[in-house]
Amino acid sequence: MKILVVEDERKVAAFVAQALAEQAYATRVAGGCAAARIALSEEPFDAVVLDLGLPDGDGLDLLAEWRAAGFNEPVLILSARDAVADRISGLNRGADDYLPKPFSVDELVARVRSLLRRQAGTKATVLSHRGLRLDLLARDLRRDGQPVELTSREFALAELFLQNSGRVLTRTLIAEKVWEASYDLETNLIDVYVRRLRAKLESPGQPPLIRTVRGTGYQLLP
Ligand code: CA
Repeated sequence: MKILVVEDERKVAAFVAQALAEQAYATRVAGGCAAARIALSEEPFDAVVLDLGLPDGDGLDLLAEWRAAGFNEPVLILSARDAVADRISGLNRGADDYLPKPFSVDELVARVRSLLRRQAGTKATVLSHRGLRLDLLARDLRRDGQPVELTSREFALAELFLQNSGRVLTRTLIAEKVWEASYDLETNLIDVYVRRLRAKLESPGQPPLIRTVRGTGYQLLP
């Protein structure tokens, strides 16, 4: 699950992104309307957290534009304008929820989660593979029915593998998707994480789940 955070105040953006990342949601921050348009044209998002007062335009116009173009993922408006009229106008223009600033980050996370859950009716949110069951909304992974404790990074890695069963995932792709690193991540770090994930997901005496593709990356075996 990936969430776009459109917010020009760097501190607030970083704070929100961090809180969402702790729940194992991938995030991308856009500091204005132009950056938000680029982000949405480049990759899919499952939800948007949208500030209204942006340096290069109004978040409400951006929202109206997206809805007119058929973007129908949930949008949570985050704004200092907490007048009732503003709230109504935001909801009328296609927002799914509205959180006035200042807000509690726990409440923000809870609302994003609930929007994603509401939206989930039409989407596959549980990934299954050889005794593994990964619930994207509950952020829960089970092996043969038993919960497996994962860090948020390990969870993101497991999600990536389960979404690409059978595909060879290069280290570069893993770095981009799980660490959102456009720079060269120490590949050693990826190897360490994959090893840890294997230890948690594979059972002794069973055929391996993840195969090392020498010099390239990893593959989740069917
Ligand atoms: Ca702002």
